[in-house]
Amino acid sequence: MKRRNFLSNASLAGAGIALSSPAFPQAAGKGGAVKADLMIKSARVYTMEGARPLAEAVAVLGDRIIAVGSNDELKPLAGAGTQVIDGAGMTVTPGFIDAHSHPDGASEVTGADVNLRSIAAIKDAMRAQAAATPPGQWVIGNKYDDTKLKEGRPVNRYDLDEAVPSQPAIVQHRGGHTAVVNSKGLGVAGINPGSPDPEGGHFGRENGELTGFVAETALSEVVHTAGEWPEITRAVRQQGVAYMSRAMAQAGMTSTTDSWGTVESLTAYQDARAAGELLTRLSFMPYGPSDLYAQLKAAGIRSGFGDEWIRFGAVKYWADGSASERTMRMSTPFEGRPDDYGILNMDQSQIDEAVDDALQNDWRIGIHANGDVTIDMVLNAYERVLEGWSGPNPRLRLEHCSLVNPDLLQRIKDTGSVPTPFYTYAHYHGNKWPEYGEEKMQWMFAHKSFLDYGIPVAPASDYTPGPFEPLMAIQSMVTRKDFSGRVWGPNQRISVSQAMKICTVNGAWASMEEDLKGSITPGKLADLVILSADPDDTVADEIKNIPVVRTIVGGKTVHEA
Ligand SMILES: [Zn+2]
Repeated sequence: MKRRNFLSNASLAGAGIALSSPAFPQAAGKGGAVKADLMIKSARVYTMEGARPLAEAVAVLGDRIIAVGSNDELKPLAGAGTQVIDGAGMTVTPGFIDAHSHPDGASEVTGADVNLRSIAAIKDAMRAQAAATPPGQWVIGNKYDDTKLKEGRPVNRYDLDEAVPSQPAIVQHRGGHTAVVNSKGLGVAGINPGSPDPEGGHFGRENGELTGFVAETALSEVVHTAGEWPEITRAVRQQGVAYMSRAMAQAGMTSTTDSWGTVESLTAYQDARAAGELLTRLSFMPYGPSDLYAQLKAAGIRSGFGDEWIRFGAVKYWADGSASERTMRMSTPFEGRPDDYGILNMDQSQIDEAVDDALQNDWRIGIHANGDVTIDMVLNAYERVLEGWSGPNPRLRLEHCSLVNPDLLQRIKDTGSVPTPFYTYAHYHGNKWPEYGEEKMQWMFAHKSFLDYGIPVAPASDYTPGPFEPLMAIQSMVTRKDFSGRVWGPNQRISVSQAMKICTVNGAWASMEEDLKGSITPGKLADLVILSADPDDTVADEIKNIPVVRTIVGGKTVHEA
């Protein structure tokens, strides 16, 4: 019967909603005549619920969904005070969730966004940023990508000199390891054509002249230590969180994860929340070797502590190199580099120790493990600690879990572990994948394999290295096609509905909040997205361009196009 999709008063109470609460004035009316605060009708509603995958209308009271069904079924819930949104022609999904990101955003508000597709546009952005930067201070551009420019060449110092002639200026690559500096900036850093490369670093040169390109220690130890940089104050951090939260809400995201949480970022999330600027919910993963984690343990705090807005997730460790920067630890070498198997940051005993410590202190754990060698080591630790385990499975996490094989997949399934592979990388970072070769790419970001094994693979951007936009993620997982049209590991392509489920249901599972979010179900949080088109009816290569009409978090509109 359709009535089962409605929440009875008894189950409202069970979901923690007191009908007599002054927070729900309409609900306190006589005769139990509950009226919704908000209703979306005439839409295509993907509930992500097995019992009723498609519906037409959703009703919201306070911060919760109270009913899902047809227009007719929900009609009695519309009262004089109900805001009714006509969703005709639109698609409603649960709010999108990101299970691995770095959304603190301090750098976003101290520099221009130069994630742009032409040098001309980057110059304009840097010109505008210079006008907003105190004289003498570095003019910063962030999220630069040298491989996607219309001009077909990277930015050099002469481009930056034209845009910013009289202040030091820098555009920093989104990967975090390289940058381009203007002439003034090279001068401030004391770099001249005769300067030798620093150990572990590199200055770009052409015909004996500096190009402005700086890499690794030339950036971190020479440029970043010279001149006057904007100060990252508590207020700046709060602005950063507010900025990112707004950007994520605009993209249809309602929950994200800080996968390397610090005291400063924890403060910033709370400051932004207190100021009403936190629009998206957050799972907070403290970094294992940090003082913060030690202090949290000492205070008796454990995973799950917090509320629907900011909650402690798993403790985070970091066991090997990177996928996009081509340093992860593998059992076979990189293409064209027969001696290079990547790097490990932890050995087996360190991993074992971290896992024991986490579980003894009632923390879930998430270990960064990209390569197959590292994933094997982490699974060794998980299998050992789960032997004779009683109680619910702790859903130990494998951060990234980029390169798998059938043996690893079976062990991930058997241990109930949650992998968080990059969900926009196949599309966005295609130019990096030749170094892995075709064969490995069939087993990388293996969303299809995870689903085939019944593994609840989580949605994960790893922003800023990867774009966070959920619609781009869906396109990437469905097409595996990069910007130039090349397809990476076509065997790992999944359907639109599978990708949407990963970005919603599986996201909630990864933070152990499946009773609260991930589907449009009465009793769950009213975190919803209205899209102007159904991704399933859209040409796959265009999914990322579908406009997000409205994002609703806890019943409140946080973005409206
Ligand atoms: Zn990360």
